[in-house]
Amino acid sequence: MTAAEIRQQFLDFFASKGHQIVPSAPIVVKNDPTLLFTNAGMNQFKDLFLGNKPAPYKRAADTQKCLRVSGKHNDLEEVGIDTYHHTMFEMLGNWSFGDYFKKEAIQWSWELLTEVYKLPKDRLYVTVFEGDKKENLEPDTEAKDYWKQYIQEDRILMGNKKDNFWEMGDTGPCGPCTEIHVDCRTDEERAKVPGKDLVNNDHPQVIEIWNNVFMQFNRMKDKSLEPLPAKHVDTGMGFERLARVIQGKQSNYDTDVFMPLIHATEKLCGKQYGQTEKTDIAFRVIADHIRAICFTIADGQLPSNNGAGYVIRRILRRAVRYYFSFLDVKKPLLHELVPVLAAQFSKVFPELEQQTDFVKKVVFEEENSFLRTLDSGLRRLDVITAGEKSKTIEGPVAFELYDTFGFPLDLTMLIASEKGFKVDEEGFTAEMKKQKDRSRAATELDMGDWTLLQDQPSGVFIGYNQLSAEAKVLKYRKI
Ligand code: ATP
Ligand code: MG
Ligand code: MG
Ligand code: MG
Repeated sequence: MTAAEIRQQFLDFFASKGHQIVPSAPIVVKNDPTLLFTNAGMNQFKDLFLGNKPAPYKRAADTQKCLRVSGKHNDLEEVGIDTYHHTMFEMLGNWSFGDYFKKEAIQWSWELLTEVYKLPKDRLYVTVFEGDKKENLEPDTEAKDYWKQYIQEDRILMGNKKDNFWEMGDTGPCGPCTEIHVDCRTDEERAKVPGKDLVNNDHPQVIEIWNNVFMQFNRMKDKSLEPLPAKHVDTGMGFERLARVIQGKQSNYDTDVFMPLIHATEKLCGKQYGQTEKTDIAFRVIADHIRAICFTIADGQLPSNNGAGYVIRRILRRAVRYYFSFLDVKKPLLHELVPVLAAQFSKVFPELEQQTDFVKKVVFEEENSFLRTLDSGLRRLDVITAGEKSKTIEGPVAFELYDTFGFPLDLTMLIASEKGFKVDEEGFTAEMKKQKDRSRAATELDMGDWTLLQDQPSGVFIGYNQLSAEAKVLKYRKI
């Protein structure tokens, strides 16, 4: 089954259960102070869950463009190193707004996975919230009882708050959840170690695919939980992980979601995927990051020096460094992948194809500008780390790399860790603060001058030629 068919079957299944199929919200969030990017399918329904707005439908389903590179859900460091965490991914979801609850949610997830997608039942595990005394939350025996109708009891595992109580961010809608995991190991491996020991244990072949959240609370700023006006269902299934499981692959990157990008990169760099671990990581990082870059730009977030724009710039620079250092490509490459991705998604997210040329141009400019300083920055890092016994890159050095060579801190940290070095993050932050203070002081000075001009209506400005504030005052010559 192709990935496109898998996606369509999900939507068709929930449409047949009375769900309104809705479009993905933009991946860039513009109106929520708690969030820069969409990190889950439920974000666009936040107000409906909180009861701030009436729901226009009782049930909805979609595929949502998500990005998990900042805030509570940040997977950036895993990306490319493991094979199932991405920066940008699609989250397939179905929702009930005060309509059906645990019984139907559980029944339908089981039906879809085992009857439509035909996943073998003896490969599945489910987890249920074990409760939390501190927060006065009961174990979810109700969900457990529903699961018992479908799956052997020894495949139902109790999970802690970290894994089985889902929260959107530091504040916002939340609730206990039940998750479905798939054991993709060989029979031989399964005979040696039971799958239940590997659930939620970072095993590359025993992976979580679907989360069913029972939205019941709002996490307040003071950390307390307030019950929501109604109870809702919010589910999220990683589309790329689902495709990998159904297509019987060892890695999300081996599916037809990522292979077109990997093949295109192979052609551009003259190297093959699957040769060495180092180059493979680079192939995966590039295939992953280009998706994050393109979909965010297409949704209106240009790379820049602060906020959400800087997140995109950081991801882009990270990708550039991977092809520069590990695929031996010294000229812009990423922009060549834009049309490949746009064509691949022309039917699902047409906004990218409609802006292919623009996105390509932005990516090219960004790559070009970073490539101008990357090489010298890397050489500077080599000099700094050579023979350095403390195995630490000091704050001012990390700041110089940032300020002069355009190295985002996380990129310096990544390169440092490859060399067995640490970065003095506090020192870096202190340097950054000093720079901000300097520019703030400069701004304040300008404001002072403006006041002065107001105070002296008879003065005539004849221009600056000195730098001190006093000198500027003198420049207002009395007439
Ligand atoms: P994990 O434990 O693997 O990090 P999660 O518990 O953080 O996943 P949820 O917040 O429950 O993930 O999101 C719902 C689903 O979205 C997950 O079950 C998974 O299939 C998918 N998913 C989550 N994070 C990613 C990611 N970074 N890349 C790809 N898919 C993801
Ligand atoms: Mg996670
Ligand atoms: Mg998890
Ligand atoms: Mg989860």
